[in-house]
Amino acid sequence: MTDLKFVPTTCPYCGTGCSFNLVVKDGKVVGTAPAQRSPVNEGKLCPKGMYSFEFINSPDRLTQPMIRKNGELVPVSWDEATTYIAENLKKYKPSERCALSSARVSNEENYVMMKFARGVLKTNHLDHCARLCHSSTVAGLAGSFGSGAMTNSITDISESKCIFIIGSNTFEQHPLIGRREVMAKQNGAKYIYADPRRTHTCGPADLFLQFHSGTDVSLLNGMMQIIIKNGWEDKEFIEKRTKGYEDLKNIVMKDEYSVENVAKVTGLDPKDIETAADWIANSGATALIYSMGITQHTVGVDNVHACANIQLLTGNLGKRGAGVNPLRGQNNVQGACDMGALPVSFTGYQKVTDPASHKKFEDAWKFPDGIAPAENGYEVTIMMNVLTDNPGELKAMYIMGENPLLSDPDINHVKEAFENLEFVVVQDIFYTETCEYADVILPAVCFAERDGTQTNTERRVQRWHKAADGPGETMEDWKIISMVAAKMGYADQFAWNDISEIFDEVAELTPQYHGMSYERLSHADALHWPCKTPEDPGTPILHKEKFLTPDGLGVFLPADWQPPAEVPDAEYPLQFTTGRCLFHWHTGTMTRRSATLDSEVPTGWIEINAEDAKEIGIRDGEMVRAITRRDSLTVTARVTSTIKKGTTFMPFHFIECPANLLTHNALDPVCKIPEFKACAMKVEKISKE
Ligand code: SF4
Repeated sequence: MTDLKFVPTTCPYCGTGCSFNLVVKDGKVVGTAPAQRSPVNEGKLCPKGMYSFEFINSPDRLTQPMIRKNGELVPVSWDEATTYIAENLKKYKPSERCALSSARVSNEENYVMMKFARGVLKTNHLDHCARLCHSSTVAGLAGSFGSGAMTNSITDISESKCIFIIGSNTFEQHPLIGRREVMAKQNGAKYIYADPRRTHTCGPADLFLQFHSGTDVSLLNGMMQIIIKNGWEDKEFIEKRTKGYEDLKNIVMKDEYSVENVAKVTGLDPKDIETAADWIANSGATALIYSMGITQHTVGVDNVHACANIQLLTGNLGKRGAGVNPLRGQNNVQGACDMGALPVSFTGYQKVTDPASHKKFEDAWKFPDGIAPAENGYEVTIMMNVLTDNPGELKAMYIMGENPLLSDPDINHVKEAFENLEFVVVQDIFYTETCEYADVILPAVCFAERDGTQTNTERRVQRWHKAADGPGETMEDWKIISMVAAKMGYADQFAWNDISEIFDEVAELTPQYHGMSYERLSHADALHWPCKTPEDPGTPILHKEKFLTPDGLGVFLPADWQPPAEVPDAEYPLQFTTGRCLFHWHTGTMTRRSATLDSEVPTGWIEINAEDAKEIGIRDGEMVRAITRRDSLTVTARVTSTIKKGTTFMPFHFIECPANLLTHNALDPVCKIPEFKACAMKVEKISKE
């Protein structure tokens, strides 16, 4: 009988960070098995995690480097591919080069890409998909608390006395965090759910606030006015731990945020707004949980500040069962941010514009010709705008594990941007839509074929273990980048023998990771950052005694409500919002190659309210035309009463009906996140000729 091997690792999909064992037979991964000791998921998995092994052995895997010659992709050796990349990248000035890192690869590999961009390409034009999901969290919470990360832990959620979920379909996007929300409810917590859609996450709700997309600031300001008028604010906490309270009152006490006016803006019953405010303030420990319903707006940073404000006002920070808990999207999006795969920071959010940080990294890395200057680079959304609006400014892009041709807003705009690039490298595990524009394609290993670490949404740094070799000539991302760096003349700076040496370099340079090592991370509990010394047990709950701001105080940062950039009108009367579903992940690169997951949900759809459908004359299951000012597409209508009247919804996973053909790239002015959650649309019946 063949021996089975069980290799512990973590799930390649969402930021929950569930652990499990990969089952290996004859050198191939053939299944998953529970890992009971992980406190995150205690042996349980959602369908995505359970079937995450199915795409690993797909015949579609990229297995050889390829160079486009005379318009055709031709297999070549690693030596030829990396020499070709180095020769081409050297042709461009630093300011003409840009790079995209990836939330699907390890911390170490994000660090290597960050070092490559700043040390080899000499550019800060470096970003990754956090721009599209939680850049408003990173910027917003850093201002309010001094740290842009989830304040409490996943296990802590089950101890909450009041669960307040706003803009998160937790049961489908982070199911094993949804389990904690249910546990809290079973322990007696009140459960408030605020969303334009009655999703599965609404199931246990004691109170459902079905409000209009894009009215979050109005709702939260209105609740804060109710709390202050009733004297429910935590006066001692405000006095001792915060600043800016008068600024908050100057905004939220305006007549504009009276419960009657907020009810009109949000479409809610005033009594429900009052009840929610009462429960949030008076339950003892309220956990505010949010995701992209809050962040993906042109006012994403204001939304995040409003979430922070209400928790500061009610003293729901620095204690068990409370906190501001953004649920990060991809498995390692927290880690990719921590590693400085951003245009503004090195690892640990050390600013590139800070002379001391710049010198620290320049001295540590020892590039003979220095590193990128101490100035911020472009965000990915700005890179696209620069490419279309100022052709020739950016010329070469190195992409690791990202698929902007399906994930980014207004795909026609993204295509136009890519057509203006002269040289594109794509490093991935499958041939994606973005590969259409690649001059070189490099085959990487997948999650099951590599060692490393990731940092989940609660700042827990977790180990990955290699279970099998990748197919063909696939290679770890850090080795590929190191080969290219060596060909460009920087072998010494990338001369690691083992990935653990990269982690040690990260720990040396990153205060939050300074006390961590592979040895310490081998425990199933792993470690939450900040973990500053080898004795530090890590920090599951932030801000217990003081905030991470320079003076230790939490900062009220109030703002007035502003409507979305594009609101429904006579021509486009519906409000369009996008998201994901339980069985698929982002652009479907992995989940659509899992037979089990793909059979559950084989294609996309548009959700439309039953009353709206009746007015248009559409029936459930009918093909309809969805139209925005960007483009139109044909898609199956799912007629339902669970979505708020006047709102439509599409998941963005499916290339045959790509929701992002319809979205627009209106950006938050601070963090440059696009407004995926609100634009104007019309839906038309397709007449049968
Ligand atoms: Fe994977 Fe997230 Fe599901 Fe856990 S909850 S198994 S991390 S997709």
